[in-house]
Amino acid sequence: MSAQIIDGKAVSQIMKEQLRQQVAALPSPPGLATVLVGDDPASQSYIRSKHKLCADVGMRSLHHQMSAGASQAEVEAVIVQLAADPGVHGILIQLPLPAHLDEECILSRVPLEKDVDGFHPVNVGRLAMKGRQPAFVPCTPAGCMRLLQHYKIPVSGARAVVVGRSNIVGLPMALLLNHADATVTLVHSRTKDMHEHLNRADIVVAAIGKANFIVGSQLKPGCCVIDVGINRTPNGLVGDVDFASAREVAAWITPVPGGVGPMTLVMLMENTLRAAQKSLLGRELQPGISG
Ligand code: NDP
Repeated sequence: MSAQIIDGKAVSQIMKEQLRQQVAALPSPPGLATVLVGDDPASQSYIRSKHKLCADVGMRSLHHQMSAGASQAEVEAVIVQLAADPGVHGILIQLPLPAHLDEECILSRVPLEKDVDGFHPVNVGRLAMKGRQPAFVPCTPAGCMRLLQHYKIPVSGARAVVVGRSNIVGLPMALLLNHADATVTLVHSRTKDMHEHLNRADIVVAAIGKANFIVGSQLKPGCCVIDVGINRTPNGLVGDVDFASAREVAAWITPVPGGVGPMTLVMLMENTLRAAQKSLLGRELQPGISG
């Protein structure tokens, strides 16, 4: 078997076109503000990609660069200022923050209706609870769900294994799959016999940060592999799943690059558009829970 490639780049192109049309229909462009504390090169590169995509779909963007030593009060003051700015519909705090800052307090300063990254503790709490609707869902897991929907991959009743439990990817991914009625197992660095979970999984989401960590022989034939990992190696970017061996076993697989990465960016644009639609048109925020 050679798996069908889940082409995140192609799906994101379709979404970008739809976003351009919806942005053009607004009385004024949506605005996204980014805040970066420190000068981590990877974070700077992610921020640049976000601003480039904003321009591409017709959105405004502005960036607040803060020194690595910025105090808690200084960072919170910037967020309070952005929260009050009617031209800013979405606020993104680039994570991780330097260790001296209180991440939870800073994320809590973002108004719920501008929390386009979905990391406000209230939005995360709502995502975790049955019958509650977060205003926004974190972009990477939302992008993974959108890929599953686009390729009509059965989720309800499926056995899903999420590898990795970070606040940014693994945990919200497990919560979204649970909302979509998968039977979810969340595995991590302390899990014993991970292969016993993997070889029963209909859907595997890998968000570990270790190059080619999961190999084809560990997977259930006919499964779907969503590889979130981005690892820089001498041979270029690779995922957390060994693509060559996994594609011979799985029925669907995301490549790295060109799988989940482009979806993360476009989901951020979609969240910002929804925030602007609420602000500019008074349109109620639709629950973001389905991704
Ligand atoms: P973190 O480092 O925050 O989390 C990694 C998770 O993997 C942890 O939960 C950890 O377990 C688990 N883990 C580590 N080693 C093992 C192991 N040997 N067996 C099982 N689980 C293990 O990473 P992130 O979630 O932020 O990112 C994960 C990957 O996704 C990275 O490669 C990152 O670059 C990529 N990424 C990609 C994005 C995209 O848009 N495509 C967006 C965000 C991230 P424990 O909790 O026990 O330590």
